[in-house]
Amino acid sequence: MAQKRDYYEVLGVGKGASEDEIKKAYRKIAIKYHPDRNPGDKDAEEKFKEAAEAYDVLHDPQKRQQYDQFGFDGPMGGGFGGFGGASMNMDDIFSMFGDIFGGHGFSGFGGGARRQQHRGSDLRLKVRLTLEEINQGVTKKFKVRKDVPCQHCHGTGAEDGSGREQCPTCHGSGVITHTTQSIFGMMQTQGVCPTCGGEGTVIKNKCHECGGEGIVKGEEVVEIKIPAGVAEGMVVNVPGKGNAGRRNGVNGDIQVFIEEEKHSQFVRDGNDLIYNLLLDFPTAALGGEVEIPTIEGSKLRVKLDNGTQPGKTLRLRGKGLPAVQGFAGGRGDLVVNISVYVPKTLSRDEKEAIERFKDSDNFKGDRQTKETIFQRFKNYFS
Ligand SMILES: [Zn+2]
Ligand SMILES: [Zn+2]
Repeated sequence: MAQKRDYYEVLGVGKGASEDEIKKAYRKIAIKYHPDRNPGDKDAEEKFKEAAEAYDVLHDPQKRQQYDQFGFDGPMGGGFGGFGGASMNMDDIFSMFGDIFGGHGFSGFGGGARRQQHRGSDLRLKVRLTLEEINQGVTKKFKVRKDVPCQHCHGTGAEDGSGREQCPTCHGSGVITHTTQSIFGMMQTQGVCPTCGGEGTVIKNKCHECGGEGIVKGEEVVEIKIPAGVAEGMVVNVPGKGNAGRRNGVNGDIQVFIEEEKHSQFVRDGNDLIYNLLLDFPTAALGGEVEIPTIEGSKLRVKLDNGTQPGKTLRLRGKGLPAVQGFAGGRGDLVVNISVYVPKTLSRDEKEAIERFKDSDNFKGDRQTKETIFQRFKNYFS
């Protein structure tokens, strides 16, 4: 398959294009390459489809944000759109024309109405993840209540396979013409046929289970794979798992909103993890090994020099959280901030031992350390 072109490039708009600019750009391309104008022209058809796919993503703020963030693959690696990206078919595309040309899926070209495909609505879910789950990536199961195809009529909406017949209101055209008297004379306006919703046909005998809609309320357990590295506020789009479309239409998507649970030991900063180490005074003074926990559950042994000062920071490379797939940058770091504990109470022995150092100049801090602390506060307040 040829390299996919960037969606903005396909529509010939800038990254910052407004919704209106995107709509206009798509409309222009769609009219130019429309199959009714280019019969049998495969190249035009490809361009038409390519533009439709780009528009499907860019006109939807959610999908656009994901595309800007993750590129073509999406965080799921599953591609974009309820139509399955490249496999978008012509019916799907015509069902999108509602937004562009007004009306409901009526193509506006070549006369007759096209068989409209209904798209089910999207479902939104929230999921709370621990940092451990975010580190590993996780598969979550959800029991969702949603529209599912009616079993009785196999989603067709018709009782006993009765099929469809020409719409009695519009006689198959999908549109109706109103003639009204106005101050400018007789005016004719066209609108979508209210009886058939622009489809041109109606069901002969509506299914008694679903009333002709082809969908009923049902429950489904959905497994959703959340990639490693996601963060609070990100949205993972799962194409085709949302509400079923009416009368065997296209399924909507599920959008999963990510929430992050606070961790007892780590604070997240982008893909870095921050750990606050409370060091005992003897180790700070004498030097020695300390154990630093990791998000993996293991412990890292780290050697500290003698004379380690409170406020010192260690950076353990690559021990933070992974970047979301498709993001540059690899793993973040584990940043260890060191504080030194001063005992709140002392035993008689401890007190006596420490009192011996009370008058030692060596315990009062050297010029360089005082300077460092002064600088740190200065930076903090400036
Ligand atoms: Zn039914
Ligand atoms: Zn009709």
